[in-house]
Amino acid sequence: MTDPDCLFCKIVAGDIPAEIVHTGERTVAFRDINPQAPLHVLVVPRDHEPNAAATAAADASTFAEIATTARAVAGAEGYDDYRLVFNTGAGAQQTVFHTHCHVIAGRDLTWPPG
Ligand code: 5GP
Ligand code: ZN
Repeated sequence: MTDPDCLFCKIVAGDIPAEIVHTGERTVAFRDINPQAPLHVLVVPRDHEPNAAATAAADASTFAEIATTARAVAGAEGYDDYRLVFNTGAGAQQTVFHTHCHVIAGRDLTWPPG
């Protein structure tokens, strides 16, 4: 359930450093290397799937843990309001093909997103 060539699998395994802010049974959360807001954390499943659709189809409990972890991470840093984004597919600007949920907070956010 890991891909030896996958960047986020390597972070989950501890083979590449990241600033980890939360670990759970099925998920790991770490700060984005290029933050787009005062809070910008990525919540990823431990099991490699290429995108959110695949994780949701493979294991709904993992998908649920992503959502509860995102809430915990935002709350721990004092944010009641936050945005969750799953870029799903290259056409939606996904660049790392291991499922990840962006947790973004701490600045004014526009809607719809660009
Ligand atoms: P995507 O565009 O696939 O939705 O988001 C991928 C995210 O991963 C980007 O926001 C990017 O800054 C982040 N990222 C890429 N490489 C690394 C890395 O090596 N470490 C960390 N912490 N984040 C990364
Ligand atoms: Zn992976």
